[in-house]
Amino acid sequence: MRPEEKSMDKLVALCKNRGFIFAGSEIYGGLANTWDYGPLGARLKNNVKDAWRKRFIQERHNSFEVDADILMNPRVWEASGHVSSFSDPLLDCKECKMRFRADNLIDDFDPDAHADGMTKAEMFEYIKAHSIPCPHCGKHNFTEIREFNLMFQTFRGVTNDAKSVIYLRPENAQGEYVNYANVQRSMRAKLPFSIGQIGKAFRNEITPGNFTFRTIEFEQMEFQTFCHPGKDGELYDYFKEYGKKFYEDLGLAPEHLRYHDHEKLAHYAKAACDIEYLFPFGWGEINGTHNRTDFDLTRHKEYSGQNLDYTDPFTNETFTPYIIESTYGLDRTVLALICEAYDEETVDPEKNDVRTVLRLSPAVAPIKVAVLPLSKKLGDKAMEIRDELSKFFMCDYDETGSIGKRYRRQDEIGTPYCVTVDFETVGDAEKPADNCVTIRERDSMAQVRVPIADLASYFDKKFVF
Ligand SMILES: [Zn+2]
Repeated sequence: MRPEEKSMDKLVALCKNRGFIFAGSEIYGGLANTWDYGPLGARLKNNVKDAWRKRFIQERHNSFEVDADILMNPRVWEASGHVSSFSDPLLDCKECKMRFRADNLIDDFDPDAHADGMTKAEMFEYIKAHSIPCPHCGKHNFTEIREFNLMFQTFRGVTNDAKSVIYLRPENAQGEYVNYANVQRSMRAKLPFSIGQIGKAFRNEITPGNFTFRTIEFEQMEFQTFCHPGKDGELYDYFKEYGKKFYEDLGLAPEHLRYHDHEKLAHYAKAACDIEYLFPFGWGEINGTHNRTDFDLTRHKEYSGQNLDYTDPFTNETFTPYIIESTYGLDRTVLALICEAYDEETVDPEKNDVRTVLRLSPAVAPIKVAVLPLSKKLGDKAMEIRDELSKFFMCDYDETGSIGKRYRRQDEIGTPYCVTVDFETVGDAEKPADNCVTIRERDSMAQVRVPIADLASYFDKKFVF
């Protein structure tokens, strides 16, 4: 199926019904743009994290993971520029009181207008000149554009005075930057080296979300490479490619991925590029790679008063390292994988038999193997096999319904292999047990007969990323 043939409504329904993703606080009517991962969604998400860790931390030399706190000293966000300039240009419809992002209004009106290159005044003029109507009520009567800070604030302790304001981090990166010197010293790291982190971040955005694509709470997999000034260009290009390769290895088709180089750069960046994925609702950013120069460490030096310079042990040269950042949106990556994997396949056109199948890469599939007894009478043997295999990977066990229905249930959640235990497996008074099971592969639906004793080696390395 092509991306535009896939229905988001069907995907959202499948995610809900099969335990991938539920609406947040659903029994209370939900909370806009929040989602909870169910048992299979949590597995999928963890498998993506494991794949990222393997590719970015384990397999790379000079690469270190940290797990910094979400709450940080508020001075961090002054140094980073978030307190003064991390905001969205918002305007209200005076007629229906709905609030909108000015740049989104313009981009929805004309995708070639490039609102991301406009100033606030230019956006206001554009909206006026083109009489852009309110998407909610259709009238054209807006307030001026105002900047709203996107950081969630909270208060430390019991008093609500300004001194105790702290923020939920709007990005993970600062946790890596403030620990730059700690990691460098404790790991005796030499440039270039990298600090990665997986964790939650929070942004008080008003834009509605396309399922889990845009949420107010989300998880990032971030990778910051500290390098000599002058090596930054080369590393920037390298990580753009490394990121695209990572996505292809996870199972996203190359033709559904593209680079989007930024025209308007953030205050800290020398170059910035997104990797976009072709979702059923259009292209959307799933990764950002930025050349942040020495901006971050220079600012933290200034605001903390600490020396964050690096002295090269070979040349004795002292300088402030440059940073190449590559950030992967975990929730968006999971959504992209589900969208990519979703397929409706006509198995038998005469019977109008269509199966829904999630063609997830075996490395990220939530369940690797489902063990299915042909009859409930074979349950003990099947459970024995499940228990043995589950020492190595996630297994499911299902004995209810016809075997055909059970295969389809596993197809729908992306289980790459089913192992079926039948009467030949255990034998009876007339026929000795053959001690073999049937393995059925999800995509081809091909079946092979394999001795139980060989199962572990049959599956060996099949789920390795
Ligand atoms: Zn309106």
